[in-house]
Parts: sequence; C-alpha cells; structure tokens
Amino acid sequence: QQANIGVTGLAVMGRNLARNLARHGYTVALHNRTEARTKALVQEFGDEGTFLPAATAEEFVASLERPRRVVVMVKAGAPTDAVIEEFAALLEPGDIIVDGGNAHFLDTRRREAALRERGLHFVGTGVSGGEEGALNGPSIMPGGSAESWEALRPLFESIAAQVDGEPCTTHIGPDGAGHFVKMVHNGIEYADMQLIAEAYDLLRHAGGFEPAELAEIFRAWNTGRLDSYLIEITADILAHTDPETGRPFVDVVLDQAEQKGTGRWTVQTALDLGSPVNGIAEAVFARSTSGHADLRAAARALPGPSREPVADRAAFAEKVEKALYASKIVAYAQGFNEIQAGSAEYGWDIDLGATAAIWRGGCIIRAAFLDRIRAAYAADPATPTLLATPDFAEALADAQDAWREVVAVAVREGIPAPGFAAALAYYDSLRADRLPAALIQSQRDYFGAHTYRRVDKDGSFHTLWADDPRKEIDA
Ligand code: NDP
Repeated sequence: QQANIGVTGLAVMGRNLARNLARHGYTVALHNRTEARTKALVQEFGDEGTFLPAATAEEFVASLERPRRVVVMVKAGAPTDAVIEEFAALLEPGDIIVDGGNAHFLDTRRREAALRERGLHFVGTGVSGGEEGALNGPSIMPGGSAESWEALRPLFESIAAQVDGEPCTTHIGPDGAGHFVKMVHNGIEYADMQLIAEAYDLLRHAGGFEPAELAEIFRAWNTGRLDSYLIEITADILAHTDPETGRPFVDVVLDQAEQKGTGRWTVQTALDLGSPVNGIAEAVFARSTSGHADLRAAARALPGPSREPVADRAAFAEKVEKALYASKIVAYAQGFNEIQAGSAEYGWDIDLGATAAIWRGGCIIRAAFLDRIRAAYAADPATPTLLATPDFAEALADAQDAWREVVAVAVREGIPAPGFAAALAYYDSLRADRLPAALIQSQRDYFGAHTYRRVDKDGSFHTLWADDPRKEIDA
C-alpha cells in the first residue's frame, strides 16, 4: 500500500494535520527526526485512519505515491532548511514539498526558487488556527505553482475548515504568497486583539463596568456585527473567576503581552513596501510597551488627569462598540492594502475577496465581518481602500461621532487607546482635503533642496531660500 501524502515533523501541528488527513480517508506516511514521536502517534491515534509509519526518510519517501506529497511541519528557520534539503535529495522531479510552518515569505521565495531549479514543487503554506485548527479544520493558505495546487487541492479542501459549505483554502499565488498572506493575517489578529483590549479598558476604567458586567456586554456584541471568535473568547475570559483568589481572572494575569514575531514581520514588511499599517503597528508596539517593566516602573509616578467616570454608562458602551467597529474596519483595510502592495511588488495576483473568505473559518480572526470584506471586493475588486466601499463607508459615517468621542474620553481620562486613536488618525488622514505634508515637503526643499511639486502646474520646483539651503543636504 502506498500513502497519499506524508507528514514529517510530528510535534503538535504535524501530528494533528496527519490525524486530520487520516480521518478524511487519506493514507498518511509518518516521519519524525526522533522516531519515538512517530510511534507514539500510531499507538495513541492509529485507529483514526491508515498511517504508514517510517523509521527513516528513505523509507518514508519510498512509501509515497507519485507525485510525492511531503508536508514538512518542523521548527521554522534552520531546521526547516535542513529537513527540506534532506527530503529534496530523495525526491524526483514533479514531487511536492509543502512547508506548513510559520516561515518568513522571503525564505519561502528563496526555497521555492532553489527547488524549482531542481524540478521540485515547493509550496509555502500558511496554516492557521493553532493545534486545534490543524486537527479539526484550519484555514490553509498555500503558495506555489498552479500544478502543485491541483495536486494538493482535494486533500486541502477536505481537511480545511468549512464555512457555508465552502472549504477555507484557496491557491493564494506563486512562491511566497501563501506565507505572506498568513503573516498579514497574524498582523491583523494583533490589531483586532489590541482594539478589543482597548474597548475593555475604556469600558472598565472610564465606563466603570466590572468584568462580569463586561462579559455580558461582549456577549451582546457577539450577536451583532462584531460577531467573532475573539469577541466570544473575550466574554468567556471576562466571566472567568480565578479559582485560587476568587478575583476576576483578568486581574490576576500579569499585564505583559508576549509575541512570537509575525506581527513584527507584518510591520517590517509594510515599512519596506511603503504600506501604511499604523493600526497594526500600534498593536505590535502596545505589546512591547506592556513588556517593558523597566520603563513602566520608571514612569509610574508621572501624573495623570483626575478621573471622572462617564455620566451615561449604557450610552458610552454603545459608543465604544461603534469605535471598536470603525477601528476594526481600518485595521482590516490596512492589512488588505498590505496584501495588495505585496501582490503588486512580487507579481502574485492575489484575490483579496477569496482571501477574506478563507479566513471565515479555522482562524483566530474568523468572523461574520469577513463576509462583508469578501462582498466589498466582489463588488469592486480594484477598490483602493475598503474604507471607501459602500457598506464600510456607511458604517464609518455612522460611527464617527462616537469614535471621536471615545478617543476624546481616552485622552481626557488618561487611558491609553493607541489602536483607536491611530485608526481614527488614519481615517482623518485619508479623508483630508489637504495634509500638512505640504509643509514637510517645503521643509525638505528648504534644508535639502529636495524640490517640490505644485498644485497649479506640472513639474519639479526648487526655491532659493534665504540662507542657501544646499549647504546641508540631508534626507
Ligand atoms: P515546533 O515548532 O515545536 O517544532 C518541533 C518539531 O520540529 C519536532 O517534530 C522536531 O523533531 C522538529 N525539528 C526541530 N528541529 C529539527 C531538525 N533540525 N531536524 C529535524 N526535525 C527537527 O512544532 P509545532 O508543531 O509547534 O510547529 C511546527 C511548525 O508549525 C512551526 O514552524 C510553527 O511555527 C508552525 N505553526 C505552529 C502553530 C502552533 O500553534 N504551534 C500554529 C501555526 C503554525 P524532534 O521531535 O526530533 O525534536
């Protein structure tokens, strides 16, 4: 008997993907550097389907039908390179290596180009939803050749999360497109989490709501347009009492958020592409600010305003819902613009609507909201920004008074709301008739003779400023 597909790297992610494939009727070859993991999988879950465990890479490769499909699920970075090399040496032209780890898309581009030279297909694939998703249905974001997609498609479609009868997977585009999209997905996730956290903080400290009351508010929100996995778990967390102390769980958790790096990559890449993602950037910086115990300790004694809770709590809660929704629209719009910019830079031709659709299931950011994004791109695939599409433009118009008021309350009460404020600043920047960039460009011309363009005629101009500015040339 031959295996339909093989998985090498059987830690949580690989093991669960292998089980998911087997549960869907595929015969799955298994391999892991340390054979004990392979044996443990077969021993514990062997009755879930047909597994062909292999002790060596050679045995593993020999057990696969052609074209061979090898899924690599090992630690990102050097281990991934080592394992790819080990298997590439044993494979034949036309075979497919899938990297389902969290690789940087530039590494994926490099690996794809190198393997293509050797006649192999390399499919850098975003897999989201953590270990639970891997087992029960992730969102799968494959890059690589169209040919490899056709060979993987039936398998990916059957193991992916399903929403309204549609599998949460699609061919994202060539080489690094899949890992790029997965990276931006994670950046958006950072922003979404930050915005929810700010809503909680404002409601608690300006609105005067207790965690148990907030759980109810978030539950109510989860029945409306904010309906999403992240809002749902937020309600659960806020309702949870720490069994040891009897205090609200959120109050016993150290207020320092960690990160593994994909949010940082999203922002670094956006800087390289010149794609403004200030909402996502604030979310990444907010996590690092929280982690700087030294800075926070040094500044703790600095004065803030005297606080007075808002007069009408219920009305304030409604305004925060609007501010949250509006800021969320901005964060997603920025993320999708970054995907658009990456797609243009690398020639990927990514379908933005289809990308939104496959995040509706199996992802941490799964939400009804993504249907609206899909619809917006279906109506106008070339729209420069989601903010200007009818559904979102209307929601922003409806939210803007509340949004401004919530940001003003945050400022007045001394409650940090960098996500809400950045999103609003972005909104106001895009809609501004004139930006003070005119002054910045004038300054650049003054000190660096960088020239400027005019509103009333074409061409490039330079003014001879009083003190010859060209003495000091600076960017
Ligand atoms: P880990 O990232 O913890 O990696 C452990 C696996 O890598 C083991 O199978 C290990 O083999 C293997 N490995 C490490 N170094 C080498 C090497 N030099 N040569 C051969 N094999 C090696 O496993 P996870 O399951 O957590 O994640 C796998 C991938 O999926 C990672 O890239 C991760 O970023 C990504 N991912 C993880 C998610 C999660 O929620 N955990 C979510 C989405 C993606 P051995 O048993 O012999 O040590």
